[in-house]
Amino acid sequence: ATKASRNNSVFPREDVQTIFSRINVPLERFKGTDLGKHSPIDGEKLCELGLTDEAGLNRAIDDAQQAFLRWRTVPAPERGKLVYTFAELVRRHKAALAAVVTLDCGKTETEALGEIQEVIDICDFAIGLSRQLYGLTIATERPEHRMAETWHPLGIFGQITAFNFPAAVWSWGAMIALVCGDSVIWKPSEKSPLTAIALSGLMDQAIAACDSAPAKLAQVVLGGAELGRQLASDTRIPLVSATGSTTMGRDVAARVGARLGRSTLELGGNNAAIVSDKADLDLAIRGVAFAAVGTAGQRCTSLRRLIVHESIADEFVARLKTVYAQLRVGRPDDPDVHVGPLIDERAHQQMASALQQASAEGGSVFGGERVLEDQYPDAFYVNPAIVSMPAQSDIVEQETFAPILYVMKYATIDEAIALQNGVSQGLSSAIFTTDMREAEYFLSASGSDCGIANVNIGTSGAEIGGAFGGEKATGGGRAAGSDTWKAFMRRATNTVNYSSSLPLAQGVEFDV
Ligand code: NAD
Repeated sequence: ATKASRNNSVFPREDVQTIFSRINVPLERFKGTDLGKHSPIDGEKLCELGLTDEAGLNRAIDDAQQAFLRWRTVPAPERGKLVYTFAELVRRHKAALAAVVTLDCGKTETEALGEIQEVIDICDFAIGLSRQLYGLTIATERPEHRMAETWHPLGIFGQITAFNFPAAVWSWGAMIALVCGDSVIWKPSEKSPLTAIALSGLMDQAIAACDSAPAKLAQVVLGGAELGRQLASDTRIPLVSATGSTTMGRDVAARVGARLGRSTLELGGNNAAIVSDKADLDLAIRGVAFAAVGTAGQRCTSLRRLIVHESIADEFVARLKTVYAQLRVGRPDDPDVHVGPLIDERAHQQMASALQQASAEGGSVFGGERVLEDQYPDAFYVNPAIVSMPAQSDIVEQETFAPILYVMKYATIDEAIALQNGVSQGLSSAIFTTDMREAEYFLSASGSDCGIANVNIGTSGAEIGGAFGGEKATGGGRAAGSDTWKAFMRRATNTVNYSSSLPLAQGVEFDV
């Protein structure tokens, strides 16, 4: 249970059971003794959940296939109405859902409300999309023929998601999949399963309210890596999307690839911002601080590397340290707090060991200490860290999922771009500059090699309208807006002959 620490909050500060009854979602459906769900806020046990076994996953896949066979015949704009109905429920229960996100993964109130807003936004996008699943008509080389491209529903969309965006990432995929005519099976992270139970409960309510939507159209299965592996290996699931670490992505890609299925991988980032000597430094400080410490550095797009021009580096880092010193670290359900907890003890161990390694590699560390340990011995709060590095050493090349910002200096823009691109990951990147040539060079083919490249705005906080994802070890997948819907459908090329002759391709003569 959480207790109110302030009064000026929109959050219902209630225990899990009360919040679930408020949104009419029975938590009992997932009750069991397999998994104790603990709050990252204070380590308190929130509830016990039952996990899905192999037989349960099998049943879910069979049910999803039956649902798909019906759903694919429902006209796409009608499918959009299901998403509309769901979005209305999410709007109505926005504060309660955000409170579940906070209990589940420790996000601050503003971040949790922002995450639920993303769910609403992608619903709006998907509803519009349901009337815009366009194919092409293509000029054919044959007389009295027509050639066209048709997009059809694909099948079951299997989704494996990470703990840190327990609502948004599912909705980026699932809402698009639903309007595309697919059914959905979601395996959320075992570290933040409550949001999935809440959202799928609301989706069930929306399905029940829509005559054309079959039951079991969008299901949740609970489990860890092993259940994820089973889902990835199952030939009945043509498309698997996996969001999480690069290690997990390699395993999923190999399993889906071995059966020639499709995978969309959204993996780790090691995002950098270049701060030029021609930057607006006030703006850059805000952009850098928000991207580095938001969600306690637990966003895939969190800023992890700062590449600053040598002529301004000392001044810029000194200013950044002043901002860091003013950050309030604490319970995320306190609206005055900027930085909430890490997800668990392992995350804290990884942060501590990364800081140790950075020191051994010549880094000088500011911050990074564990705080509030006396008050919350079973929760893990830290001061965000700034580490000045002599070079882009081994530890800087790794993604540590915690608020650590490595700082390096550069002399020329080419050197800065080489540092930015000199890691295995390729998710998000930014340059702060007022120089048009530098900005355009950074965005050009010779510039940033990331899926997201920004100018004068930080690396985190992408909008749903664009395609979200990254290159290299980030996996190459794209989610959310733009034309990502094409991954959720199968494309058929149709040639129609409306003449009374049959001219064969390549001038082949074939008399019968
Ligand atoms: P994780 O890799 O530990 O787990 C992610 C999900 O994969 C969980 O549901 C987990 O149960 C499942 N899983 C783990 N091993 C698996 C396997 N071998 N086969 C199938 N499923 C498996 O990641 P996490 O700690 O939950 O999240 C943090 C990571 O996620 C970071 O690396 C972060 O950058 C990344 N992330 C990426 C994006 C993106 O869009 N690129 C978004 C959010 C998070």
